[in-house]
Amino acid sequence: VRRSKETGQAEAYDTRALDRARARFAMETALRRAVEAEQLQLHYQPIHDLATGRIVAFEALARWTDENGSEIAPADFISVAEESGLIVPLGRWVLDRALRTLAAWDARAGAPLDVQMAVNISPIQLQRDRVPPLVAETLAAHGLAGNRLKLELTESALIADPDGSAETLQALKAAGVTIAMDDFGTGYSNLAFLQKLPIDTLKIDRSFVTGMMPDRDKIAIVRAVLSLATALGMATVAEGIESGAVSQTLSALGCTYGQGYHFARPLSAEQAYQLLVAPSN
Ligand code: C2E
Ligand code: MG
Ligand code: MG
Ligand code: MG
Repeated sequence: VRRSKETGQAEAYDTRALDRARARFAMETALRRAVEAEQLQLHYQPIHDLATGRIVAFEALARWTDENGSEIAPADFISVAEESGLIVPLGRWVLDRALRTLAAWDARAGAPLDVQMAVNISPIQLQRDRVPPLVAETLAAHGLAGNRLKLELTESALIADPDGSAETLQALKAAGVTIAMDDFGTGYSNLAFLQKLPIDTLKIDRSFVTGMMPDRDKIAIVRAVLSLATALGMATVAEGIESGAVSQTLSALGCTYGQGYHFARPLSAEQAYQLLVAPSN
């Protein structure tokens, strides 16, 4: 912090920095309470087979409404959770709640549904927590087979510790869990490294998808990611599909799966279940 008494500007800078630090600390305290009291929620966004429209998975997305009734976006509270270490209990809660919901849907349908649950795992949790045994215990607690779960990881999670990540992913694969690389195209995209990891799916970041047409550069990037995925034997999911035209173009380019507001926004567990068992699915 600069401590100049000379100009008002410098003092205003100090005050703003201090305000930001206070606001962040207040958010951390409120988030800690919310995690402890299990006051977060999960919403579920469907992932569709682009060729048939069938729902193949739901992505579980955390939601937080604070004590004043304000909704805070994951983009804001996940980073606070990561910096404070709260991401570990938060991530454990998300995993448990998402699998509990999937097991409840199966029970309601009277048989295991042909659908996966996709759960985001923070790089911090991957480094600090023992994720494979945690996942195995949580699956067992809800009576679910490993292949019902897909974990979404970002590249940064893996690049931070290549050997450790390879080992972690192998252990998860051995339990039948599938692995998706999230937000692909925004990170380092270290291809040699990617090939060494047991990744099943590439998720194309929505920054290349949403405004894809008529942006020739974005289309070129999407094409490149799709051919890379095919060469490596991976499936592809496009996120951020907001129109039928984008969905059709992606499908024509060979993208297998997609999610986005064109299909559905993230839904409550009840809405998601109704969509899943609707005759049109
Ligand atoms: P993500 O994993 O890439 O999730 C996709 C995000 O795109 C979600 O934002 C979703 O609501 C949004 N989205 C989906 N379709 C569309 C669309 O058509 N248009 C637009 N504009 N947006 C769309 P959300 O829920 O705000 O989450 C943001 C990010 O926060 C996630 O990005 C993920 O990185 C993180 N996050 C959310 N929940 C969790 C969680 O439980 N654990 C961890 N570690 N991270 C989470
Ligand atoms: Mg994700
Ligand atoms: Mg994503
Ligand atoms: Mg994203």
